[in-house]
Amino acid sequence: IGRFWAPINTLASFYNSLLTAISYLERIFETIDEPVLVKDIEGATTMPDIKGKVEFKDVTFSYDEDAMILNGIDFTANVGESYAIVGPTGAGKSTIINLISRFYNIDSGQILIDGVDINTVTIKSLRKQMGVMLQDSFIFSGTIMDNIRYGNREASNEEVIRAAKTVCAHDFIMGLENGYDTEVNERGSRLSAGQRQLISFARALLADPKILILDEATSSIDTETEILLQEGLAKLLKNRTSFIIAHRLSTIKNSSCIMYIDGGQIMEMGTHDELMAKKGYYHELYMSQYSFLNDDEIKVEESIF
Ligand code: ADP
Repeated sequence: IGRFWAPINTLASFYNSLLTAISYLERIFETIDEPVLVKDIEGATTMPDIKGKVEFKDVTFSYDEDAMILNGIDFTANVGESYAIVGPTGAGKSTIINLISRFYNIDSGQILIDGVDINTVTIKSLRKQMGVMLQDSFIFSGTIMDNIRYGNREASNEEVIRAAKTVCAHDFIMGLENGYDTEVNERGSRLSAGQRQLISFARALLADPKILILDEATSSIDTETEILLQEGLAKLLKNRTSFIIAHRLSTIKNSSCIMYIDGGQIMEMGTHDELMAKKGYYHELYMSQYSFLNDDEIKVEESIF
């Protein structure tokens, strides 16, 4: 009898993993506890293969009619550029990134991807070409190999390993007792927060979306892993347009453009050097948050420059 139980148990645990994976996707695509608020318009077309130009044209948005949340957001991110979004809590940063993948319909203005108004295409064809990474890196129970391959089910073992190498995850994986075959669980308890992020970078690289949206984790991470993460992130961002709610100075400094948001408006936009020279909001944020880093922390933050 014992012989019959083994595969059934395996199947049951596979089924559990699958459910976790599915509910994770639902969580990303419907945002937590939100009903589905947008529907395809009648006659919606399929979004063509995305190259990655993203334009906001005088976008206004409110969750409730009486409270305007975004007011006149206007920017053009060209193919391959990385945008860091910074600003105080409640400024509207998450709202902006939620609108890019059309979690809500805007009140006025336009959001265009490669010149196509995102309201005119099916939500499915739009979102399947975008990568969204939330602060908490998602790990399901299974092997490290399975966890990375989740980015692209068709990928071969070699492709998984190549992706892991590219984002600097390979060495730590090889250090685990069974390498890529090491079993991990939902809480990722065998992995540190930084290692979970490296896995999610490899997964995102395999998925290869032309637009990547990332809410950067704030958890403190040891110096060595932090350096790997910065290097891995730089590789992941190559050749794709990205929007990152950024907390780490090195991510911010490395961006093509920093958007400083407050009160639902873009207060300043430019590179780190430009905004520092301007001595405005960003300069103030920098002085208050990053100018007190100790020597070690600065070394980490600037290690990849
Ligand atoms: P940030 O990411 O910069 O912290 P958010 O975009 O999350 O800011 O929030 C901007 C404003 O929108 C805040 O005032 C917040 O309370 C409000 N807000 C966010 N999500 C919702 C929602 N689902 N319903 C109503 N108001 C919301």
